[in-house]
Amino acid sequence: MIDALDVMAALDQVYPVFQPIFSADEHRVIGYEIFGRFRHDGESLSLGPFFLDDQVPADFRLEADLLILEKAFEKALELDGDILLFINRDAELLIEDKEEKLLTLILSHKEKGLDPSRLVLEISERKSMPDTANIEHILHYYRTYGIKIAIDKLGADSSKLDQINLLQPDILKVDLGTLRGAAIGPSYQDILHSLSLLARKIGASLLFESIETVFQLQFAWKHGGRYYQGFYLMNPSPSFVKEEVLNEKLRTECHAFILTEQKKIERLFSLRSELNQRLQELNGKLRKKLDDYELLMAIGNELDEIAFRMYICDSDGFQDIPNLVSKKGSWQFEEGHRRKNWSWRPYFLENISNMRSERKGFLSDRYNDIQSGETIRTFSFPIGEERYLFVDLHPKFLNKREELY
Ligand code: CA
Repeated sequence: MIDALDVMAALDQVYPVFQPIFSADEHRVIGYEIFGRFRHDGESLSLGPFFLDDQVPADFRLEADLLILEKAFEKALELDGDILLFINRDAELLIEDKEEKLLTLILSHKEKGLDPSRLVLEISERKSMPDTANIEHILHYYRTYGIKIAIDKLGADSSKLDQINLLQPDILKVDLGTLRGAAIGPSYQDILHSLSLLARKIGASLLFESIETVFQLQFAWKHGGRYYQGFYLMNPSPSFVKEEVLNEKLRTECHAFILTEQKKIERLFSLRSELNQRLQELNGKLRKKLDDYELLMAIGNELDEIAFRMYICDSDGFQDIPNLVSKKGSWQFEEGHRRKNWSWRPYFLENISNMRSERKGFLSDRYNDIQSGETIRTFSFPIGEERYLFVDLHPKFLNKREELY
């Protein structure tokens, strides 16, 4: 364990290390996160615990931190002019720095050739954000010098979402540390999906860190990660690396990810066209002879084992006959859903427009069914003038067809 007094007594033994950050679009190094190390008894110790230690007075931590940054900035002068430097900054420490020592340090290196626009402040908070209005104000001030802002250590808890809007970061750093192993719950994926949508809305880029396996890299790639960082790619080191150092590796892995995704997409396409074909045949044969009740029942019997619930709407989303539901192997009409309206559901109107103009059916995304709690897809299909059929597909059938187990 590192002793704060040892550090303060031998400040000349602190030094920076740099962990490369890679881009998804060019597969090259676009920047480095700066970490602090301490040489002690022939060992190199992480200064992480020191900076997180509440017992260490804030001005001690700030002093050590500025020393590391100064060494880092000096070293960074040898880098190309477009490489970013990511600086960890505790919100509390930022407020504590009343004399603006960090800004002074940054500006003193501007003349030497380190443009402030190459710096990214990674804002993190250990407790709740001390004074959001104050932080907002300080960050705005830093921003006027071109300094970029990142929100650090976003993870499985989404409590920081409101702050993200407030602080308008350029980058969101998502920590995949909580994602070790293969067991990722769908809720975690959903949170990440929301994060990636939010990032897109506010014009921020997603940076995934703590990538330690190829699986996590794939996850980051799939969830809109523009930047990657972690031991799987490269460890922190006192020296810089060549920009292209992982070019080949990332290109090869990216290609494998693409193949996997393409296979998934092909499986969905073939499922969609198969359902389209079966329903077109059946609907063409029966539509004119049967009323909606009889038609639904006939389709139910045809799609036994595939579907567990179906209903018919008009183009405004009004349902005027009950749901047909599969119960213990037989299809039954279930009263209670008549005259409900579904137009408020996500993608509903878009879906109707698609069916109307393409005259064929579509598969929904995977979502959790409110009633059963299971992850399903709905196949929707135009059965006639202003009549649309919605078929909720069986989770077991879907998992098999999509090869998810
Ligand atoms: Ca960080």
